[in-house]
Amino acid sequence: MKVTRVAYSHGLNPGKYAALSEQACRLGRVRSRVWQQYGSVVGAGLKDRQVRDAWLADGTHHRFGVLANAWKETVRDAMADIAANREAAKVHVRQAIRRHASDPVKMKHLFTELKADRWAADPFLSRQMRRHCKRGKNRTHNQIVVRSDQHNTKVDARGRLWLAVPGLRRRQLVRIPLNTTIAPTGTLRLILRGGLVEIHYQIDAADMRTSQRPCGTRRVGVDKGYTEALTDSDGDHHGTRLGRLLTTESDHRKAKGRARAKLRSIANGAARRGDHAKAARIHRHNLGTVKRQRRRARWEATVRTETFTAVHRVVDKANTVVAEDLTKKFTGRSLLGKNTNRRLAAWTKGVTAEALKNVSERRGSALVPVNAAYTSQACHRCAALGRRGGDRLHCTRCGVVWQADVNAAINILQRASDPDIALHTPHTRVKQILQERADRHRTRLPVQDSSHHPAAESETSELLSNEQYAGSRGVDDGIGGSDRRQRQAGPGGGT
Ligand SMILES: [Zn+2]
Repeated sequence: MKVTRVAYSHGLNPGKYAALSEQACRLGRVRSRVWQQYGSVVGAGLKDRQVRDAWLADGTHHRFGVLANAWKETVRDAMADIAANREAAKVHVRQAIRRHASDPVKMKHLFTELKADRWAADPFLSRQMRRHCKRGKNRTHNQIVVRSDQHNTKVDARGRLWLAVPGLRRRQLVRIPLNTTIAPTGTLRLILRGGLVEIHYQIDAADMRTSQRPCGTRRVGVDKGYTEALTDSDGDHHGTRLGRLLTTESDHRKAKGRARAKLRSIANGAARRGDHAKAARIHRHNLGTVKRQRRRARWEATVRTETFTAVHRVVDKANTVVAEDLTKKFTGRSLLGKNTNRRLAAWTKGVTAEALKNVSERRGSALVPVNAAYTSQACHRCAALGRRGGDRLHCTRCGVVWQADVNAAINILQRASDPDIALHTPHTRVKQILQERADRHRTRLPVQDSSHHPAAESETSELLSNEQYAGSRGVDDGIGGSDRRQRQAGPGGGT
């Protein structure tokens, strides 16, 4: 497995940044041209080498004003983007084939042709591809792709690492000081953003230090939370700084947004009065995006570190992690509207999903996805849907107050071995199953309502004072405990 790493420039002088920006901008034109000429169905099945040869033959490349290696790598990268765009369309076309073809032989033939990129010859496939393959457009004007043999690194006397990449002229290298001492390797993607150069590169996950860290031996369920990244079925919380990170960032963005709106209205007012100099001044000095972008990048990096550390902690004790199904889509930005907090929370949920998958693959632990419907509402002991109040879940049936996220994590762990609730069981069916279980549980229990109030109350208060109960002793103990209490209550209820 490959993992993407990002290094940043540190204290790069503006002249070099401008030179790199110019190069990226020219390469952006190369990208646009690739998209223009080959972005549609015309480019299907074409290799980047063929595009290169065609452009070398007709002299197109003379107009780019960049070194040969730079534009050739860009062509390769853009063709890969176009291919990815086309693959996305194929998902829809495959569905169309399933609807369209009734004969299995014919269907298989269509799938094969589609996969081998020979769909242009078939009228049905070609029509479908034209419909679903939205003609793309290049929007990338800030990237430079550098082949692995075109760059080198050197450490200076002060221990700083410098990365040298080709400039606009032959044998003229641009040296970029980096914020790290780990040299980037392989093909580099330089992204120029907000005065910083981001150097994206891929490394083999097996080479990473954490990949050699052994995983635990247990089976643990985890619940993705808001105030912390993960809560496990043992009752341990991991990534507890996440909630604060989210709240402060959300408050900050709201305040900044309001201030910017105010400034924008002042600028617009000035422009209306004809004071364009003032409007331009406000736009340049007060409504820029450089600092905002930088802050966001920093915040995202902090959240990622917190989340990945949390997942590593879980894998430290588990070789099997049971979690909510991750292939499910997270609520999109459009549905969340302007609510900053919810938007950020959705984003961090995606990071948690990525971290779980990534760390599991690297360290060799198993990740078991389960259906998480009602895991945060149902009592893990009796399956009744409880009442949620803050971080507590009150089960009205057993009269117990659980810590909501620990209860959810235990439910998730139990789902992995649930005989009735599969990954894709619809949530309405899940609710039905839970209700049936809760009813069965009640009929086994003695009548609790009238005769034995004092006993029931004392049991509740004991559990309240002991609210870590579910957490500290694990699932099996929890169930055993309930049985014990049932036996105690049994004779009492009878008398
Ligand atoms: Zn219960």
